[in-house]
Amino acid sequence: MASRQKARGASWLASFLLVTVCLTSLERLSAESPIDGERAYRYLKLLCQFGPRPTGSPGMQQQQRWLTEHFQRLGARVRRQEFQIRHPVTGEGVTVVNLIATFHPQRTDRILLAAHYDTRPFPDAERDPRRRRGVFVGANDGASGPALLCELAHHLSAYDGPYGVDIVLFDAEEFVFGTRRDRYFVGSEYFARDYASNPNGVRYRAGVLLDMIGDADLQLYPEKISMQYAKPIVKDLWNIAEELGIREFRPRVRHEVRDDHLPLNRIARIPTVDLIDFDYPRPGTRRSYWHTQQDTPDKCSAESLEKVGRVVWTWLTRLQ
Ligand SMILES: [Zn+2]
Repeated sequence: MASRQKARGASWLASFLLVTVCLTSLERLSAESPIDGERAYRYLKLLCQFGPRPTGSPGMQQQQRWLTEHFQRLGARVRRQEFQIRHPVTGEGVTVVNLIATFHPQRTDRILLAAHYDTRPFPDAERDPRRRRGVFVGANDGASGPALLCELAHHLSAYDGPYGVDIVLFDAEEFVFGTRRDRYFVGSEYFARDYASNPNGVRYRAGVLLDMIGDADLQLYPEKISMQYAKPIVKDLWNIAEELGIREFRPRVRHEVRDDHLPLNRIARIPTVDLIDFDYPRPGTRRSYWHTQQDTPDKCSAESLEKVGRVVWTWLTRLQ
């Protein structure tokens, strides 16, 4: 009897310890993630309020001013990487601006967090492809990545890992009027060539590209080009998502997406993962949001932004 009671006592103690350990690890998980999805979503709506933001447009210039002040206020050094291209239709000169916000400039080994912040000039016409009119604000495709980076920036001055962090917003990802004719990834390609030819004592160890990560119906799959060039980073991100119970990160490899990570991986040779929800409803399906006037903030959510933000932030804090 005595020994039985003793055993029961021991099992009580074991469950008490187990609960305590679980609570501690839960506390640790939430302590690891200060990401505020509601605030990120407010940034998404604010960027959309600037209106369409194609390369060189008034909306783009307004958001550049706002984003520059935002990152400076949070302790970053902000640099404009500017160059000129010809407008694909009119032939006039257009200024392309990549915006680079640098945290901890003294750390030479660095992490790249990137997104494109231009929106395509027109929505795809759903009925008549020759009539390209309408207002495209790109809530998911154009605002969601920058919005989450605006939120992550709140935490980067205090980030005490071994790496510095650069937030890079690429311009002219899709300054495209004729899809067969015009070039994509103009800003990221320029950035990649500039870094490859003159790294300025900086070494990017890894990159994460955020594109279309605000979809309220979030599904993220490891993407094929990311798997080819940056498999260990893909594994780390998806393992962290699993550990955090974020099931929107699905384990199966799906989609090959040509995106700004192409020049980063191939020209700059920075192993870079594209986090992209390429299952955002597209034209031809029952609901079509992607590249249409329906890509508005109500199709996105604070929860999705927060989930992606938690994974990226946790990944950053664990880098060694
Ligand atoms: Zn797009």
